Amino acid sequence: MKQKKFGTTGHSVSVIGQGTWYIDHGDRNQAIAALRRGVDLGMTHIDTAEMYGDAELVIAEAIAGRRDETYLVSKVLPSHASRRGTIEACECSLKRLKTDRLDCYLLHWRGNFPLTETVDAFEQLVRSGKIRSWGVSNFDADDLDELLDVAGEGKIACNQVLYHLQERAIEHAVIPWCLKHGVAVVAYSPFGHNDFPRPNSKGGEVLQIVAKRHGASARQVALAFLAREPHLFTIPKASTAEHAAENAAAGDLVLGADEIAALDKAFPRGSKPRSLPML
Ligand code: NAP
Repeated sequence: MKQKKFGTTGHSVSVIGQGTWYIDHGDRNQAIAALRRGVDLGMTHIDTAEMYGDAELVIAEAIAGRRDETYLVSKVLPSHASRRGTIEACECSLKRLKTDRLDCYLLHWRGNFPLTETVDAFEQLVRSGKIRSWGVSNFDADDLDELLDVAGEGKIACNQVLYHLQERAIEHAVIPWCLKHGVAVVAYSPFGHNDFPRPNSKGGEVLQIVAKRHGASARQVALAFLAREPHLFTIPKASTAEHAAENAAAGDLVLGADEIAALDKAFPRGSKPRSLPML
C-alpha cells in the first residue's frame, strides 16, 4: 500500500484508508475481521467519529495490540465543538478507542461555535499530546478562508469531503484551495455511500473497460481515480474482509493519463453548486 504525506503534518498516511460509519450495525466479528484484514494489507488510516455509534468500540477491539500500526482519525460533532466541549469529546473518543492519542482530530462539519474556540481546543489537545494534528470536514473554500485566518498556515492537516465519481463538486474550489495551502483532501463515501455506478450505465461501461485493462475491479479503478493526485486520499467503508482486501489492492493501481481522461469524460464534474454537497 502506497503512503503519502498527509498535508503539512509530516505524517505518512495510507492512500486508501478505512471508513467506519455503520460498521457497528452488522455482524460485529465480521466487521472486526474486515478492519484487521484492512490493516494487514496496509489500510492503516482508520476514520471514525463520535457520531458513529459504537464504531469506536469496534475499532478498539480490531486494533487491540496494534495501535502503533494505525493512523487513527476521529471527529467532534459541531454541537460539542466549544473550547471545553471539544476537549471532553476527544477524551470520550480516546476512552472508547482505548488509546491515549488520536493521529488527527476533525470538526465534523461547521456549526454555531466560533472557529476560534474549536481551534483553541485543538491546539490545547496537541500540546497535551492527546492529538497529533487536527483538521476539518465538509468545509467549503470560504469556510477554509475563515479557518485559515483563525489558525494560520500549516495548521490544518486535512479537509474530509464528499467525493466520488458521480459527485465531483470539490474539484471546483476545495481541491485547488487545499493544494495551495498544503491541506490533504480525504474523499469520503468514495462508492457514493450505496450508489456505485451500475456496469450497464454509460459511466459504468467506461469503468469496466479501464478495470479490464488492469485486471482490476470497477471499484478499484474508482478508488485509484479519487486518489490520483499526491494530496488526495480516500476512505471506503467495508464490512467484510473480502471487500477490505479488494479495496486495499487499489492502493497500488496507477491509472494512465488516457484512462483518467476517459473517466473524467464519462463522469462529468458539472457546474459549481451553490453550496458544498455533503451526506
Ligand atoms: P462508501 O465507502 O462510499 O460505500 C460503502 C458501501 O460500499 C457499503 O455498502 C460497502 O458494503 C460497500 N463496499 C465497500 N467495499 C466494497 C467492495 N470492494 N465491493 C462491493 N461493495 C463494497 O460509503 P460511506 O461509508 O458513506 O463512506 C466511507 C467513509 O467515509 C464512512 O464510513 C465514514 O468513515 C466517512 N464519511 C464521512 C462523512 C463526513 O461527513 N465526514 C460522511 C460520510 C462518510 P459492505 O459494508 O457490505 O462491505
